[in-house]
Amino acid sequence: MHLARFPRRFIAHLPTPLERLDRLTAELGGPEIWIKRDDCTGLSTGGNKTRKLEFLMAEAELEGAEIVMTQGATQSNHARQTAAFAAKMGMKCHILLEDRTGSDNSNYNNNGNVLLDHLHGATTEKRAGGGDMNAEMEALADEMRADGKKVYTIPGGGSNATGALGYVNCAFELLGQANERGLKIDHIVHATGSAGTQAGLVTGLKAMNAQIPLLGIGVRAPKAKQEENVYNLALKTAEKLGCPGVVQREDVVANTDYVGEGYGIPTEDGLAAIRMFAELESILLDPVYSAKGAAGFIDLIRKGHFKKGDRVVFLHTGGSAALFGYDNAFDFQDRWKRA
Ligand SMILES: *Cc1c(COP(=O)(O)O)cnc(C)c1O
Repeated sequence: MHLARFPRRFIAHLPTPLERLDRLTAELGGPEIWIKRDDCTGLSTGGNKTRKLEFLMAEAELEGAEIVMTQGATQSNHARQTAAFAAKMGMKCHILLEDRTGSDNSNYNNNGNVLLDHLHGATTEKRAGGGDMNAEMEALADEMRADGKKVYTIPGGGSNATGALGYVNCAFELLGQANERGLKIDHIVHATGSAGTQAGLVTGLKAMNAQIPLLGIGVRAPKAKQEENVYNLALKTAEKLGCPGVVQREDVVANTDYVGEGYGIPTEDGLAAIRMFAELESILLDPVYSAKGAAGFIDLIRKGHFKKGDRVVFLHTGGSAALFGYDNAFDFQDRWKRA
């Protein structure tokens, strides 16, 4: 796997740690739980989009872009990492934020990732939920290009074949760590949304013949749609890498039973997962993605989906900054007391 053939702007703190979660493993009494800490990629509170942006922003730079434009939900981690990456490269950043939840909560609309977008100097505009955000962004970019501006657009979540290279690289990195330590990995589980993370991982794992089943826990789309999105992007990613046909349809597996009411709306089991990871392992999850991924992971462990003694890696995709946009999802009245 020769990723150095592709332009890349090195900024992430890599490799991210691979750690065993002893207290969570003991609590759940099932497989041995490991975590791949892509919440620790280092850019403005970290997260999975930084790996994708290393390849996307290098492309933007080569094209001579002055402005990068992207889109996402109000509390988008992708938007925040793009804003931070652009600042580091001395580029302007403009973000279309889609109101997917309809929340009028002040922290949701101004704190967390939104605060960080603005701190990194990005400009933002709101759009109503439910539109074709990538199309709206391209239309706006074309208007700006007509005014002579050099605009590079990044699709939602940074999920195209260029961005997915970041997760091909992660598959490569994780397998290297496992091999160095003699750690046989039986499963990898992570939250899947705009599909780039899973598409890159499955392409990398298959291209290396890793023989590790990968499971994406969905946060938005129904199963058939999510798997189709991942598969289609994996095909493009494999083509870009020069190994077309390496991913089969059945390699792409998503479980979308943990979405709850919808994208960006916290679930009870997701909030319980946040508290569990925070109290047992001092690891911060986010209510939109990693908590729903972890809730699915925990539920599957409890249902016996994994064998005792299996080594299962939860890929932590980040998102903790969103916690500060969701403080009202928690009730900590009972903590105002002496231990
Ligand atoms: C974007 C994101 C995901 C999902 O990754 P995709 O590549 O969009 O599928 C998962 N977790 C967090 C915290 C994210 O920000």
